[in-house]
Amino acid sequence: MRKLPFDKEKLEEIAKKYPTPFHIYDAEAIRENARRLLKAFSWNKGFREYFAVKAAPNPELMRLLKEFNFGSDCSSMAELVLAEKVGNVGDAIMFTSNDTPAEEFVKAWELGAIINLDDITHWDFLCKSVGASTPADFKDRIMCCRYNPGPLKGGNAIIGKPEEAKYGFTREQLFECYAKMREAGVEHFGIHTMVASNELDPEYIIDTARLLFSLVAEITEKTGVKFEFVNIGGGIGIPYRPDQKAMDLDYVGKGIERAYKELVEAAGLAPLKLFMECGRSITGPYGYLVSRVRHIKNTYRLYAGLDACMSNLMRPALYGAYHEIVVPGKEDASQTSVYDVTGSLCENNDKFAIQRLLPVLERGDIVVICDAGAHGHAMGFQYNGKLRSAELLLEKGGDVRLIRRAETLDDYFATLNF
Ligand SMILES: *Cc1c(COP(=O)(O)O)cnc(C)c1O
Repeated sequence: MRKLPFDKEKLEEIAKKYPTPFHIYDAEAIRENARRLLKAFSWNKGFREYFAVKAAPNPELMRLLKEFNFGSDCSSMAELVLAEKVGNVGDAIMFTSNDTPAEEFVKAWELGAIINLDDITHWDFLCKSVGASTPADFKDRIMCCRYNPGPLKGGNAIIGKPEEAKYGFTREQLFECYAKMREAGVEHFGIHTMVASNELDPEYIIDTARLLFSLVAEITEKTGVKFEFVNIGGGIGIPYRPDQKAMDLDYVGKGIERAYKELVEAAGLAPLKLFMECGRSITGPYGYLVSRVRHIKNTYRLYAGLDACMSNLMRPALYGAYHEIVVPGKEDASQTSVYDVTGSLCENNDKFAIQRLLPVLERGDIVVICDAGAHGHAMGFQYNGKLRSAELLLEKGGDVRLIRRAETLDDYFATLNF
């Protein structure tokens, strides 16, 4: 059974002020996790994590991560503005987008972000969009390309096979684009790939670093471009299921360090900074969706209907994802009933769990859905007139702070003229 940072009494106390459903994040656990990550990569001078803003786009969480010098990985106008608002500008932003509109390139350029191109045609598009043409325009700019290894790298469940993924450059295109950028006067370069999502095999992450290190050597040799960083993307998984194990970050760190010595140092390409842009593994396990049983329904199956629905957490409906469910106060009760745990949306996939063995539930029970701290609240939507819930931050010592209020009907109607 998952250990929670709060018990039933605490949740009831919180719920008096902030009615369920709400998302709550454990600040201290996020901090500890950030420290673990930094320690695992402390061998690399300049190591930096760019938190994937899309995973949990809340300025308070971004500020918390900024305590650890985490930058922001942005892919939209709103995410760029969020980064700006929390003071992440310049090389604290990695702008990794795709199918990018001109105004986002303009904004990223104004903020001095590291611009990670998704396609070879975006180089000219960027130059035109921001009005850059002379070497002076590119001075101090940091440019990066996103590599899609295609058939050279095996697939991963969520992102799928690289050759079927819409992201990134082919291998050949990389050489051409780096040469072009260098000719135009760009002096600072990095390279990026992101081929996994929710990957739990550490070797996959280490292999990704090896792949980029080798590529850096080859591109430098063929084009003369010198690289300052390698960004291995996000995609580190978390153990959603009880039988899964968290990735051993120290093991990954050591594995990448070995690869660095072998492929970067030995080839005279050091120093090379290692960047990451994880989202899920940074906040995922430390966020909880707290909800209450609204109805118990007994038909062909037994249903526990919650006051949360898939607009609070899409992952089960979208990916068939598993999220552990804990019933505070009933941790020690024997699990004797099998429920479909549902929301109130008029979609039959609005289920947090299907045929889940749980203690006997009653109306009013608080139910905690675990691992909702990334790609949870963020994926919320308003279909069926459902409103997005509040987000709370549990501080060290037990104080709870509202970091996003719940939506109201007025928010829902704000775009309409009656
Ligand atoms: C989604 C995304 C991430 C973060 O992925 P996680 O699986 O949450 O670590 C990082 N980089 C890019 C470009 C992304 O699209």
